[in-house]
Parts: sequence; C-alpha cells; structure tokens
Amino acid sequence: MRQYPEVSFEDRMGTVDFQVGGRPHITVDAEICRSCTTKECVHACPAKLFVPTGDGGILFNYEQCFECGTCYQICNKAGAITWTYPDGGHGVVFRRG
Ligand code: SF4
Ligand code: SF4
Repeated sequence: MRQYPEVSFEDRMGTVDFQVGGRPHITVDAEICRSCTTKECVHACPAKLFVPTGDGGILFNYEQCFECGTCYQICNKAGAITWTYPDGGHGVVFRRG
C-alpha cells in the first residue's frame, strides 16, 4: 500500500489562502447544537472550525472554511447548519506547487 508522508495541520493550512467575505456563508444554531450528544462536526471538519463549549454548545468560525460541505452532510440535526457558498470573489483559494 502506498505510504503518504505525514503533513502537520499547520502545514496543510499553510497551502491555502482565504478571501474572507463579510457575510458568513455557514451559520450554526448553537441552541440546536446544545442538544446534540455526538458532535460529529467537531471531528469531521478538516479545518477544525467547530469547537465544543463548556455548556454543551458549539463555537463556529467560518473564516478558514475549505467549503468542502462535510459538516452539512454529516450533521443529523435539522436546522443546525445553514450552508451556502461564499459571495463571488470570496472564500478559499487553493495554491499549487
Ligand atoms: S453542527 Fe450538527 S453535528 Fe455539530 S454539534 Fe451542531 S447539531 Fe451536532
Ligand atoms: S464546509 Fe468543510 S471546512 Fe467548512 S466548516 Fe464545513 S466541514 Fe469545515
């Protein structure tokens, strides 16, 4: 089986730029999250943007989002996540090389 080299989270994040828009393209309803016992988003988001809070809720920051859609797909509580793409000209920029 092919082996891939270890790449740190910081190095991965260093390969992308973000043109941050003023409008959050993803919003999270912390009230709904409070009743969620599994918190799949915390483990599934590759950018680690979901952070559990001490009161059972979630802190979410849209600014370094890869726009992969994983959180929206994996969350099983209706209405917890509202997901759109950023406005034109904003969002993630993947650099090559
Ligand atoms: S976003 Fe979805 S998976 Fe994450 S804590 Fe809220 S309800 Fe749970
Ligand atoms: S779209 Fe992807 S990177 Fe953005 S918050 Fe959801 S899981 Fe994280």
